[in-house]
Amino acid sequence: LTVAGAPARAGAGAVRYLDPALPVRDRVDDLLDRMTLDEKLGQMTQPERRYVDAQEVTRYRIGSVLSSGGSAPSPNSAEGWADMYDALQRGALATPLRIPLMYGVDAVHGHNNVVGATIFPHNIGIGASRDPGLARAIGAATAEEMAATGVNWDFAPCVCVVRNDRWGRTYESFGEIPALPAAMTTMIDGLQGDGGGGAAVLATAKHFLGDGGTAGGDDQGDARISEEELREVHLPPFREAVRRGVGSVMVSYSSWNGVKMHRNRELISGLLKGELGFAGIVVSDYNGIDQIDGRSGFTRAEVAAAVNAGIDVVMVPTRWKEFIALLREAVQDGEVPMARIDDANRRILTRKFALDLFERPLADRGYARGLGGAAHRALARRAVAESQVVLKNDRVLPLDEGEKIFVAGGHANDVGLQSGGWTITWQGAAGPTTPGTTILQGIRRAAGPAARVTYDRNGTGADRSYDAAVAVVGEKPYAEYHGDRTDDLRLDRADLEAIDRIRAARVPVVVVLVSGRPLDVTAELPKWDGLVASWLPGTEGAGVADVLFGDADPMGRLPVTWPRDGDQEPINRGDGKQPLFPLGFGLTYDDR
Ligand code: BGC
Repeated sequence: LTVAGAPARAGAGAVRYLDPALPVRDRVDDLLDRMTLDEKLGQMTQPERRYVDAQEVTRYRIGSVLSSGGSAPSPNSAEGWADMYDALQRGALATPLRIPLMYGVDAVHGHNNVVGATIFPHNIGIGASRDPGLARAIGAATAEEMAATGVNWDFAPCVCVVRNDRWGRTYESFGEIPALPAAMTTMIDGLQGDGGGGAAVLATAKHFLGDGGTAGGDDQGDARISEEELREVHLPPFREAVRRGVGSVMVSYSSWNGVKMHRNRELISGLLKGELGFAGIVVSDYNGIDQIDGRSGFTRAEVAAAVNAGIDVVMVPTRWKEFIALLREAVQDGEVPMARIDDANRRILTRKFALDLFERPLADRGYARGLGGAAHRALARRAVAESQVVLKNDRVLPLDEGEKIFVAGGHANDVGLQSGGWTITWQGAAGPTTPGTTILQGIRRAAGPAARVTYDRNGTGADRSYDAAVAVVGEKPYAEYHGDRTDDLRLDRADLEAIDRIRAARVPVVVVLVSGRPLDVTAELPKWDGLVASWLPGTEGAGVADVLFGDADPMGRLPVTWPRDGDQEPINRGDGKQPLFPLGFGLTYDDR
């Protein structure tokens, strides 16, 4: 065994940082003493896997790599991922100090970049369930599915507090009041292994701070709010995440009163690391440092500002060699103190030791059996059922087994649409993008052998012989700013026409809304017999049918206020606006 900076003596016992019996702190001290400046800079650099290979990982001493949405390996399977991860990891292990790398992805509703993984409801649905135990179980299942691919850093959960549903990331929020995301930080415990012997990955609370509070609900916008509001509304989930020992926190692209978060030293180093006592890794957002001066690309001044603000790992997908060079210059010129570099490295290495990465750096393929397996899918189905919010029910629900049922709507038979953004690709897509059960398939099974279930996307063919109709309609997949809406937040014309066709045939209709946020249904609602908010349920559409047929009781309650129309946004500011449905609203079958 030869380790740079240490004479090759009596085997591993002589190299303190390689000795798993020693306390992590001692191992970090020992390792840090052996590291050159370049090795320390490499730990702080996170390229995108499309722009780095194993040889470069070795040569530049890269500490972590990410896959953003849409950069899955080929084949996009658990084995494909594990092979890719292992190849890069071998690059890291070929360095003189053999420091293993971490690999980060956005597993924001299950291990959602991998074909065949279990896709859970997006956070807004988990918020509707108000079930912290469920969030913990989903975190644990996600960690297991990640472990099968080696990927050990999850850029989740988003603990943002959404204050305007026009925001394209509304569905990534557990809710509009701080208590909801704070309660759901149990997902962090599940992801990080909960102290048990199961799989553990590094979780990330994001995006610090005020991402859900921007003016107009603009993604990456400016939160023009008082410090009091910032602390009372947006900080509590982070406080709770830190209390639970979250391993990393991601900085928000957004600004607070005109100051980009990526340069905000008072909030990152002062509030987060100082006041809250966060001891983990602060990671930048993707190309986030580029935005500091408002011009595209990054300069040495932006690199220095970000690191001096307290960012420990910088996501620099493409221009990472330039980043390393600029940071080196800034350190050599005294613009970034060496103490800051050491602090960042201490945080990074501490987490790597805590994850046992030095002992078990390669993918644990033993977990592959559980990926997309029956146990996780059953959990996801339960999560879907728990997240359904029944908003209106004029004696149409629950549906009865054996009834003649008409199903319409483009979202009824489409796993891609019901999963939304961040599914296989960044923006998500319609179609059978990954194995799952559609809502229609769930309805057919729940309706039983005697049932006559007919599906027509456009509602054509509905007639008075049907006992009830289910129209599954909603939003097309989107992610981040692509989903920002400045329009009237109404349903597509085709969806409304399909529902109208059913109504014209005088069949009682329940509308199942598949959407990442409340939509404006005020004008149509009196004409509908039932309305269920299904959010973005993921691959297990049978969970929707469980509630429609009363096999599961409706338990979900609104995690956000449901406005009458888009002009009421932001609605949750306590200024007396009357919403269509208040926060916390949700019917049960006893409310009939
Ligand atoms: C998003 C983050 C995400 C990152 C890496 C960014 O565009 O804002 O939430 O973790 O990409 O994919």
